[in-house]
Amino acid sequence: MNKCWLVCAECRKQIPLALIGRCDCGGTLLVEYDLERAKHRLNSVPLSQRVTSLWRYSDMLPIQDEDKIVSLGEGWTPLLRMPNLEQFLNIHSISVKREEQNPSGSFKARGFSVAVSLLHERGIKKVTVPSNGNAASALAAYAARANMESYLFVPKDCPGLIVEESGNYGAHVYLVDGFIHDAGRIIEEGREAEGWFNVGTLKEPGRVEGKKTMGYEIAEQLNWQLPDVIIYPTGGGSGVIGLWKAFHEMKGLGLVSGEFPRIVSVQEEGCTPIVDAFLNVNESACLNKEVTSAPTGLRVPQPPDGSLIVRILRKVNGEVVAVTKEEITAAQQMMGRLGISSSPEGASTLAGLIKLVEAGSISSHESVVMFNTSHAMKYLDWTNALPYPIIRSYDEFVSKR
Ligand SMILES: *Cc1c(COP(=O)(O)O)cnc(C)c1O
Ligand SMILES: [Zn+2]
Repeated sequence: MNKCWLVCAECRKQIPLALIGRCDCGGTLLVEYDLERAKHRLNSVPLSQRVTSLWRYSDMLPIQDEDKIVSLGEGWTPLLRMPNLEQFLNIHSISVKREEQNPSGSFKARGFSVAVSLLHERGIKKVTVPSNGNAASALAAYAARANMESYLFVPKDCPGLIVEESGNYGAHVYLVDGFIHDAGRIIEEGREAEGWFNVGTLKEPGRVEGKKTMGYEIAEQLNWQLPDVIIYPTGGGSGVIGLWKAFHEMKGLGLVSGEFPRIVSVQEEGCTPIVDAFLNVNESACLNKEVTSAPTGLRVPQPPDGSLIVRILRKVNGEVVAVTKEEITAAQQMMGRLGISSSPEGASTLAGLIKLVEAGSISSHESVVMFNTSHAMKYLDWTNALPYPIIRSYDEFVSKR
């Protein structure tokens, strides 16, 4: 446990820690910590002696009361080298961060473990979130663990298995005729009357803090040598903010040195607000025109703070890549044949990597980390779209023999 407060990413104003996401100036509020105190604690209790969940970095997380931590064993996921891919793409080192192994089957668990812990500390009992699916089921799981009621609002084309999964955690799930921002609007209309706390992207500081632990983990797993390139499937973008924040903090703590990794944001064609804003130089243009992409975590037409994400991508010499549904499907099959179950979002990082290598943006001596943010099983619609039948009958097998 450490001392912390909020600071505005725009005007740098500091205020005490609170469950708010926006400064008066409109900027995103992020948590800052007493680094000296964290250094001291890291020296007195070495990481090797700590829990194997993201809570091993609790000195750099905003919870004050250890008893209020709401954990289902999230984080500390494997970082797996991919020798076949390294050979195929002629890149020195490629690793996959296996985020699909988190509770509720996606990396959304990280953000909600920290956010729900903050809410639990303050006695909040009713929570809500607008989501494309995984944020909803993660909130449902952590709310169940903390004995809270959850109200989830998802687009009606959200993968059906994620809706069922959320119901299994005891959540109230509502299907919305529209996109994630329409779900967000419906929540805001009912929030006060219903007494809900909205845990939507950047509405409170916990979710970014949870996601930043991905940055700490890859650093620790790579023996405090940061990779050259990180490929991140981007929707609302809180993971980009979290990774960048982790690099800054780790530098301040003396854990890492040198250049920050180049973060590459991958989005699917048909909903590319971050890609467009980055390429147009017009950073406020984070409103996409017509949305035609698939219902996945990448489909966020109006990211809450796109300009901060674009600024971060520029600061780290990052890049953006748009990939098609066909490219994602091909990458998903390639991941499958390498033994990794990967969701469309997770597979989009491989589709993006292939494009970057073709464009010469990554040189062969560099190291790359891709985030496999969820597994294939939640998205059977995609799996069913495979150009060959997955399941054949035993009779067919016998008749061919
Ligand atoms: C939410 C989500 C993303 C996008 O993450 P952000 O940090 O919100 O940009 C990517 N992949 C999956 C599986 C997700 O659920
Ligand atoms: Zn401000």
